[in-house]
Amino acid sequence: MGVEDHELVHPDAISPTLRCPICTDVFEEPVSCSACQQVFCKTCIEHVLLTCKPACPTCRAPLTKSLQPNFLVRSLLNELHVRCVHPGCYWTGRLDERAAHGTHCLARHLLLMQEWKIQLENMRSVLVDGEKERSAMRRHIELLSSHKMQLEEEAKVQQLQLNAKQHMLDFKQQEVDELRCQIGQVMKQHHASHFQLHSLFPLLFLFLFVLHVWFFYDILPAVLGIRDCVLSTQVAYRGWS
Ligand SMILES: [Zn+2]
Ligand SMILES: [Zn+2]
Ligand SMILES: [Zn+2]
Repeated sequence: MGVEDHELVHPDAISPTLRCPICTDVFEEPVSCSACQQVFCKTCIEHVLLTCKPACPTCRAPLTKSLQPNFLVRSLLNELHVRCVHPGCYWTGRLDERAAHGTHCLARHLLLMQEWKIQLENMRSVLVDGEKERSAMRRHIELLSSHKMQLEEEAKVQQLQLNAKQHMLDFKQQEVDELRCQIGQVMKQHHASHFQLHSLFPLLFLFLFVLHVWFFYDILPAVLGIRDCVLSTQVAYRGWS
């Protein structure tokens, strides 16, 4: 792209020979074809060479070598009367003096400051958003910490309840062991008494036998009135024997 018409103080007075055949603007960094001497803006011809085949757009000659700057056209361009491109600046002067003016152009500095201010506000907005995110994250962490502490307290209470139940279980187990021991002792005593009762059976049997003999040979005949008969029978039996 070359120097546009709104940058010129008198665009209508510019000769067509100072205009680029590609962009139709006034040349900027003019370079020329070595075959036909046609002049182009340096950026315009480089763009054509990159996007199309490497040949001159005017004479189709191959442009393999680096393009040569056209110093004659450049000296003519340096005398052009141009404006400062920054809005709000009313400077006008030679084209070759415009770059030096740009270094201390107040409108350019104001524009840069406005751009920096916008960038600063964007950065401040990003920082505010980041601070909001950090605050939200901090609150979330606090909630998680509170929840963690609550869970730890519940775990402690449950552990205490579990310990109490374990103690109660141990106590019950001890009671069961004691009862089992007492049952064992009672069973031993029962077996011992059973054994003693069994040991009395022969004496009981002998006692019942004596009682039976006494009843049948003494009491019962006396009751029936046949005691003498029985005694005589016994005497007779002893005599026979
Ligand atoms: Zn051009
Ligand atoms: Zn050419
Ligand atoms: Zn200016």
